[in-house]
Amino acid sequence: MRHIAIIGSGPAGYYTAEACLKQFEDDVRVDILDRMPVPFGLIRSGVAPDHQAIKAVSQRYEAIALTDSVRFVGKLTLGRDVSVAELLALYDAVILATGAPSDQTLGIEGDSLPGVVGSAAFVGWYNGHPDYAALAPKVDGVDAVIVGNGNVALDVARILAKSPAELDGSDIVAHARERLGTAQVRSITILGRRGPHQIGMGAKELGELADLEHAAPLVEAADFPPPESDAMLEAGHRKAVAELRRFAGTSPQKPVPIRFRFFTRPLAIGGAGQVESMTVERTLLGPNGTAVGTGQTFEIPAGLVITCIGYRTPPIPGVPYDDQLGRFANVEGRIAPGLYCVGWARRGPTGTIGTNKPDGYRIAEQIAKDQPEPGGKQGRAGLDVLIAQRNLDIVTFRDWQKIERAEIERARAGAPREKFTAIEEMVEAARG
Ligand code: NAP
Repeated sequence: MRHIAIIGSGPAGYYTAEACLKQFEDDVRVDILDRMPVPFGLIRSGVAPDHQAIKAVSQRYEAIALTDSVRFVGKLTLGRDVSVAELLALYDAVILATGAPSDQTLGIEGDSLPGVVGSAAFVGWYNGHPDYAALAPKVDGVDAVIVGNGNVALDVARILAKSPAELDGSDIVAHARERLGTAQVRSITILGRRGPHQIGMGAKELGELADLEHAAPLVEAADFPPPESDAMLEAGHRKAVAELRRFAGTSPQKPVPIRFRFFTRPLAIGGAGQVESMTVERTLLGPNGTAVGTGQTFEIPAGLVITCIGYRTPPIPGVPYDDQLGRFANVEGRIAPGLYCVGWARRGPTGTIGTNKPDGYRIAEQIAKDQPEPGGKQGRAGLDVLIAQRNLDIVTFRDWQKIERAEIERARAGAPREKFTAIEEMVEAARG
């Protein structure tokens, strides 16, 4: 029997488990470990709460989780409860699917002032991640500045802009619903250091800004290159740019503007004890496509700054790490003999949920090549000994199903669930 441990129960973790089942059939046992008592990582904590159709992919992961060959071991932290070396001694392969849950920072003056928040924290807050439940960002009447031109920036802008009625049917957690529902931001600015042709946004995601109850996108036609230059863009990208062009032709009268400021980069953040403003610089596209400062600076009001500029994988003691790229040092997913990584922990924070599927299949094939035969390791029986010796209060997939049932039962009318936002509440529901 071949024994595989996957660390992280998000999309990368479950697609890899699925791939291992396909690759090794009945001759494999997979343990999926997660520091949270609840599975599915980014699906639960990252995907926007009003994008329920995307979250439905967790049903596919559940089918994998319920096979006899796969088990979920929640509330077990690698590096604290058990070490990488211990897992390598117990399993034929240890695969890190820990994602990239830490925010990149701007690295400019004032970027740690209260009111400057990374998207991991802000998205985690409205999605009920226990690490960020206490964030309580100030939104009432503020000018919100969102830095970055990717889909995360759009998620954040849309959730800030939506009315309570528009969030019906979402699983936004109670603390965020209450805070966002009783207050409204005055304006939203989405800051891009490059231009409309350099966005990482999708057409569908941009289109969702078009028909909001209280808010509307404002785009300057002067920021665009000539329309004929759109022809050189890849089809999906061209559609997104067309959506932006459509916005540029309108000036809707709604109370909250969502202003796209292209060719503008943050230089410094100011405020006395709390963010109040941002100094920005106009940019041009340099010859290699990067943003080049023009020296022309100005100040914009900012009562809340949300940086949506990418993520990093947190290092794990004993695992080689590429500090510059913010992920594990690896060659095609191999870190060291028996130690692999997949998903954002391997390639950085890019791509959709589905991008993780080929990643998982590639690593299963790699393991089969590297280790044609299993090494007679103890696998889950050995982990169970460590869990018992250390008196670890782990959570199983059946426990998670109880947590999920409790979240569904306490949901408000029309909502799919009301998530628990504290680990203790989750454990209580599991044991109840
Ligand atoms: P992203 O698409 O890489 O966008 C990051 C943005 O941050 C870029 O516009 C980048 O500008 C900007 N940036 C980086 N450093 C900066 C700095 N120091 N100052 C100013 N701007 C800076 O990443 P993301 O939005 O975090 O999304 C991550 C992945 O998840 C993407 O593949 C995304 O498509 C996916 N996602 C998908 C959905 C969906 O399908 N609905 C939702 C959310 C996320 P430059 O381009 O100039 O570097």
